[in-house]
Amino acid sequence: MSEQEAYGRKDSRMLLQDTKQSSGDYEDPAAWLRETDIVSHDFPYAANLIAMSFSDWQGQAVPSFAKSWSWCVLDFEGEWVDPSYEIRQGRWKSELEEAARICLLTGGIHAVEAHEDGQDQTLIAIPIFTRSQGEIFAVLGCAMPSEQYAGGGRYAAEAMSMHFQTCFYNRFQHVFVSDLAGVHLLAERESSRRSLLFQIVQRMHDNIDVNAVLTEVIDSIAAMYPGARLDLFMSQDHHSPHPQVKPLPLRWASNDVCARAFKDGRVALHTGREDSCTVEVGLPLGGKQGVYGVFHMVLDKPSFREVDLSFLSMVADTAGTAFENAKLYERSNQLIRELRMSNELTQRLNQSLRLGDIFQFAFEELLEMFGADYCCILHMSEERGGLEAIACNHIPLLNELVEPNRGLGGKVYTSGEPLLISEYRSAGIETSNLMEATGSQSLIATPLSVGGEVRGAIMLAHKDAHYFSYDSFRLLQAMAGHIGLAVGNARLHAEVRRLANRDSLTGLYARHYLDEEIKERQSTDFCGTLIVVDIDQFKMVNDTYGHQKGDKILKQVSEIVKSSIRQGDIAARWGGEELAVYLPQLGVQQAVFVAERIRKRVMGETEPRVTVSCGIAEWSWTDERVSVESLFYRADMALYEAKNNGRNRVIIDNKKVESTAKNPWA
Ligand code: GH3
Ligand code: MG
Ligand code: MG
Repeated sequence: MSEQEAYGRKDSRMLLQDTKQSSGDYEDPAAWLRETDIVSHDFPYAANLIAMSFSDWQGQAVPSFAKSWSWCVLDFEGEWVDPSYEIRQGRWKSELEEAARICLLTGGIHAVEAHEDGQDQTLIAIPIFTRSQGEIFAVLGCAMPSEQYAGGGRYAAEAMSMHFQTCFYNRFQHVFVSDLAGVHLLAERESSRRSLLFQIVQRMHDNIDVNAVLTEVIDSIAAMYPGARLDLFMSQDHHSPHPQVKPLPLRWASNDVCARAFKDGRVALHTGREDSCTVEVGLPLGGKQGVYGVFHMVLDKPSFREVDLSFLSMVADTAGTAFENAKLYERSNQLIRELRMSNELTQRLNQSLRLGDIFQFAFEELLEMFGADYCCILHMSEERGGLEAIACNHIPLLNELVEPNRGLGGKVYTSGEPLLISEYRSAGIETSNLMEATGSQSLIATPLSVGGEVRGAIMLAHKDAHYFSYDSFRLLQAMAGHIGLAVGNARLHAEVRRLANRDSLTGLYARHYLDEEIKERQSTDFCGTLIVVDIDQFKMVNDTYGHQKGDKILKQVSEIVKSSIRQGDIAARWGGEELAVYLPQLGVQQAVFVAERIRKRVMGETEPRVTVSCGIAEWSWTDERVSVESLFYRADMALYEAKNNGRNRVIIDNKKVESTAKNPWA
C-alpha cells in the first residue's frame, strides 16, 4: 500500500481543497507548506500517518539513554495506534489508557506510577498538538523507571515528544506533497489525453477523403496500443485499399463482440474464459445516421488494463462522425460531378436534332465520361428488322445487326433491365459479341428508352475486370435517360419535318418541298426533268360521283404515280388535282416513258376510270437560265398543250408526243 493510499485519498483531497484556497497568499511555497496543517475533522483519518511517523521517529530520533524506555502512541480519542511490545503483552495497558484519557481531557502531560517486578515505573502520556491550532491529534505514551523520571526523564520525554511532532509533520508534508504531485500528474495525464483526442479529431476532420479518415483512425489507435491487433470491419458498401479494413461479415455468431457493437452501437467486450490470455474489444464506428463499421481490437490481458475504454469510444465516435462527413462530402462531390457531366452531355445532345448526330455525340461523351475502352449503342431498326450497332468504336461491329434477345445487348433490350458485369470470363452468362471481340471483362449496359418504350441498348466495356463502380452503373442509367430524351426529340423533330413536307391527303410531298428540292438539285446536278400530271375533267368527276369519290380517285392516281417512279425521284402534289414528278439526272426522252407509264396505268387502274394529261419540261446546266419557275412554266405550257390537244396525252415542252390512248372524256 502506498503512502498516499495509507493516508487515505479522501482526506488528503479535502486538505488540498482547504489549503488550496489560501495557497495563493504565499509567495514562498515552502512557507505555505509549513503552514499547512491537519484540522480536527482530519483526525479520524490520521492514524496511519501517526503510525508511520511513530516508526520513523523511533528509527532515527530516540537517544540511546531512552532506548530502554517503552514507547507507544494513541490517537486523538485515546485509541491505540501503535502499542509497544509490553503493552501488547498486557503490561501497563490500562494505566496508560487512563493516563492518555486524562491527558486528552486536561491537555497536559499526565504521569502515573506503576509497580511491577519490584521496580517502580512511571507511565507518562504526552499530548501531541497540531502545529497551527494546537489541537491534540495524538498522545505519546512512555514507561520509564521512576528514578529516571524524577532525574529529568520527564523533560527528556517531553523534548522527544516535540521531536515526534516534527517527525509527524515531515511525514505529513511528504505525503501531502506526493499527493499533490499525484493530482498534478493525473491532471497532466488527463490534459495529454485531451490533447491527443484533439489532435486525432483535428487530423480526422482535416481529411475529407473517406479512406484517409479510416487510415487515420487505425493509425491513431495502433499508436495508442502498439501491442493490439486491430481490424476495421466496414459495412458492405465501402471498399478500402487499406489492408486492415475488411468487409463486415454477413454471418456472425450472436455473441461476437463485433456483432454486438454493430447492433447496439456501443462498446462491446469479450474477456473470454479464465485461462484465456486475451481480451477482445468491439468499437462501433457510428455517425448520426447509423453505424458504418466496427473496430475489432485484440489485446493481451496485461495491456488491456491500460486501455481507457471511454477514451477509445470517444475516438471511435469522432472517427464515425469524420467518416460520415467525408462520405457526405464524397457523395455531394459525386453528385456535382454527375450533374456537370449530365449538363455537358445534354448540352452536346442539344446541338443537333438529327438522330445520327445524337448517337454520335452520346457515343463520344460516354466513352470519355466513363473512361471506357469500348462503347456500343444499339438502336432498333424497323427497316432492317433488328438492333443496329449505330455507334461503336470496335469497327467490325459497327452497323452490324443484333437480334433482339441475342447477346448481352439483345438481352438488355428485351428485358429492359440494366446490367453490370465485373468479370465476364467467370460470370458464366450469355456470350457477347462485344465482350468476346474486344476481350473485355467489365461491362455496364442499360436499355435506351424513348418515350417509355425500349428502343435500344447502350453498352460500355473495359478490358480490366471490376472496372466500373456501382456509381458508374447508376450514372449510365441516368445518362441513358438524357440520351433517350434527345433521341425522342430528334425523332419527333424528324416526324414534324416529314409531316410538314407531306400532303396529308395523298401522302405525296408538298409543293414547297418539291420547289426546294429542285432548286437544290439545280445547283448541283447536270440536268433533270419535271412531269406535271393533271387529271382530265376532274370537275366533272366530282360533279358525277361527289367530292369524296373525287378524293379517292386523287389518292389512286397518287399511288400510281408513286409506284411508277424510281427511288430518288420526287412525287409531289403541286395543287388541287395536279401532281408533279421530278426526275433528277434524267432527260425528257426517258421522262416520256415514265409519264406514259403513269398515263396508261391511270387509265387502266382507276375506278371509276379517269385519265391524266402530262406536260414535260427538262433543264440542263447548259441552259441560258436555269430556275424552278421557268421549269414549271414550261411544263405547265406543255400540259396546257396536252389539254388543248384532246387530253389523256403526254406533251414535251412544245413537242407533242403522240399517244395512242383515247380520252374517254373527249
Ligand atoms: P381539265 O381536264 O381541263 O383539267 O378539267 P378539270 O375539270 O380537271 O379542270 P378544272 O381546273 O376546271 O377543275 C379542277 C377541279 O378539280 C376543280 C375541283 O373541284 C377539283 N379538285 C381540285 N382539288 C380537289 C380535291 O382535293 N378533291 C376533289 N375531290 N376535287 C378537287
Ligand atoms: Mg387542273
Ligand atoms: Mg384537270
